[in-house]
Amino acid sequence: MKNSTDRRLFLNWIGWGILAGSALSFFPSLVWAKTAFDYALEGQGLIASKEYRKACKALQKAIHLDPTSDWAYGLLGRAYYGLGEKAKAVEAFRKAVRLNPADTYSRMMIEIITQKPVPRLEKKERPLAPLEQEAKAEEEAMLNRVRSTGSLTYQVNRIVIDAGHGGFDPGAVGPTGLKEKDVTLDLAWRLQRRLSDIGKIKSFLTRTQDYYIPLSDRTVIANQHQADLFISIHINANNNPKAHGSETYYCSEKASSKEAARVAAFENSVLKYDKPFKKKLGYIDIEEILFRFEQRMYWNESGRFARTFQKRFRTALPLKDRGVHSANFFVLRRAKMPSILLEIGFISNSDDEARLKRGKFREKIVDAVVKGLS
Ligand SMILES: [Zn+2]
Repeated sequence: MKNSTDRRLFLNWIGWGILAGSALSFFPSLVWAKTAFDYALEGQGLIASKEYRKACKALQKAIHLDPTSDWAYGLLGRAYYGLGEKAKAVEAFRKAVRLNPADTYSRMMIEIITQKPVPRLEKKERPLAPLEQEAKAEEEAMLNRVRSTGSLTYQVNRIVIDAGHGGFDPGAVGPTGLKEKDVTLDLAWRLQRRLSDIGKIKSFLTRTQDYYIPLSDRTVIANQHQADLFISIHINANNNPKAHGSETYYCSEKASSKEAARVAAFENSVLKYDKPFKKKLGYIDIEEILFRFEQRMYWNESGRFARTFQKRFRTALPLKDRGVHSANFFVLRRAKMPSILLEIGFISNSDDEARLKRGKFREKIVDAVVKGLS
């Protein structure tokens, strides 16, 4: 993972000697020991690049540091499965289920591995396995609960704020050179400070400085923090220099309009820099099986949340309200919670760009977001 590599480089650079000296006693927070989370995240990245042996090592370190992490055990199961060590994979998945009985994914993996031979996933007509049926029933029950409680019962307590782009990826750039990545990072910080002042909502940032995080890792961070809202902040851009205003998006398979599809295509364009994921023929795409059950629920809830959010957000918004739309945003796809993406103003519009440079204007945007959340 880029982040942890940076940390290691940084540690090498300043040298342990200095840290061990007086600086350590005065600034204990300077010591960035790798945490269980870091190792698990590293393991996840290694699995994505099919380096299963290395992934196992990283995940065992994660488990050593935090033996209660069902996430790390689930990943370890996947790493062993990738190596073809099915018995060890099942053992790890069982551990994950013991730690978190709601871990349908690991339960499903156990069933799939212990079935012989591993069946191919067929296109349609395939009858649902007992666990799939169970997961479907759970999903229906959850959806019914949401329906019966009516609208706006969703209480946000933990939020992960994602500053769009970063590092080599500037995002959209304004006529005078203002970069989307810088505005989004500053807005994320301002929003976090404000939320911490208010004190009701705990918030976390996906990135705290000017570096790049792959789109999928941003959602991993939100999932790991067990946030109940993921909010990705962006600034829009358009070939039409007059386009202005603010839009709220949620994830859907099909874009709600051509414009929504265009916005998603731009925000997804950085995907080409993320680690390639190759499907192996004859293998079941486990992620997809699990995801099929979960996505509808999270996306429905995201749409509901986005509309409620927008109703309040727009009353304090210092920009034209362009409404709620949906499209296939990769940064939102795998969030296991309601997730929205804000396109706040158009950096391509010189009036918007000039306003977005001002701290006071950014504070007004934060006012509006906080209003949307309350
Ligand atoms: Zn963006």
